[in-house]
Amino acid sequence: MADKDLYSILGIQKGATADEIKSAYRAKAKEFHPDKFANKSESERKAAEEKFKEVQHAYDVLNDPQKKEIYDQYGTEEAPNPFGGGGSGFNPFGGSGDPFSDIFSMFSEGFGGRRQRQQDLSGDDLKVGLKLSFKDVCFGVQNKEITYNRKERCPVCGGTGAKSVAGVAKCSKCNGSGQYTRVQNTLFGAMRQTGPCPDCNGTGEVIKDPCQNCKGRKLVTVKHTAKVSIPAGLNNDQTITLRGEGSASASKNYPNGNLYVVISTEQSNLYIRDEFDLLYIYPITIFQAALGDKVKVPTIYGLEEITIPAGTQSGYVITLKGKGLNNFRTKKNGDLKIQINVEVPSSLSFAQKNVLKDAQEKMKDVKYDAIDKFNKKASKE
Ligand SMILES: [Zn+2]
Ligand SMILES: [Zn+2]
Repeated sequence: MADKDLYSILGIQKGATADEIKSAYRAKAKEFHPDKFANKSESERKAAEEKFKEVQHAYDVLNDPQKKEIYDQYGTEEAPNPFGGGGSGFNPFGGSGDPFSDIFSMFSEGFGGRRQRQQDLSGDDLKVGLKLSFKDVCFGVQNKEITYNRKERCPVCGGTGAKSVAGVAKCSKCNGSGQYTRVQNTLFGAMRQTGPCPDCNGTGEVIKDPCQNCKGRKLVTVKHTAKVSIPAGLNNDQTITLRGEGSASASKNYPNGNLYVVISTEQSNLYIRDEFDLLYIYPITIFQAALGDKVKVPTIYGLEEITIPAGTQSGYVITLKGKGLNNFRTKKNGDLKIQINVEVPSSLSFAQKNVLKDAQEKMKDVKYDAIDKFNKKASKE
């Protein structure tokens, strides 16, 4: 119901007197009274019933001086909340709706996050997703191009919304300022409330002769490319804000909204990420594990030589300090953790098996710490 103009529901003009409202209500109520439609089809009865309810509602508001005043000033049935929008705002006028939402939603179509600042007629904020390769995550990337749709001022009318200069008139309600202040007497005394003018949505202008290209909206959707520089070490769902790269404002003298670039990251085939540390599982042979070895292992910064000590067990972790990702906040690097996994050969020839059997025989008296420990525990159970 809030969408329809209450005066037009009653078939009268704004500024009608109390008597005019009353007689208009009587005439309309008679016209749509359910009794008159008792013998009509169901759809006609339903339609008349809806009309009748609208007429009732319009009269309820316009017949109540306080409700009428709010409606006349704001074009909605609830006064704006002077204590700021959003969250647990205390609203002395009752009602939970955000009376500015209609005004703002006219500007924010599609994927834009609407900001809650009541008097901000800046352009819409926009969000775009950006997928980073693992290399970009490791080293960051300068001036990466992102292309997205945003609203810009119509090039045909220059953002006036009108075909000609004469097609734009100053809004008479706010005298072209776009801001409208009203004083309302409340339980807490007189309260001044300033908000975007309800007649012109804060633009200060009324368009009489709309531009064909933008249909008087002043803005058109345009494909735009912005450049974003990304620090190393970003993670999924982190956001980079590009100020002023969002949509243009339909109101003169208001800046563009912001562009929020929401990061998603590609996984590495090799590295497992833990915050700024990296990890991988490094397989070695039983011979390397038993005898020790020096090997070159990959890091994101290139190959590094590590020493595998003699007697290395599966699960042993070798840490390369500072070879992880750069933490963009602390500017320090995380570590690379190399977890050793001893691989037991599984496809041996007859001759190879015999070599191992021979070795097994010759190494009978080798001490195995973990096996001894386990057997001790098991015997006590
Ligand atoms: Zn105005
Ligand atoms: Zn235009």
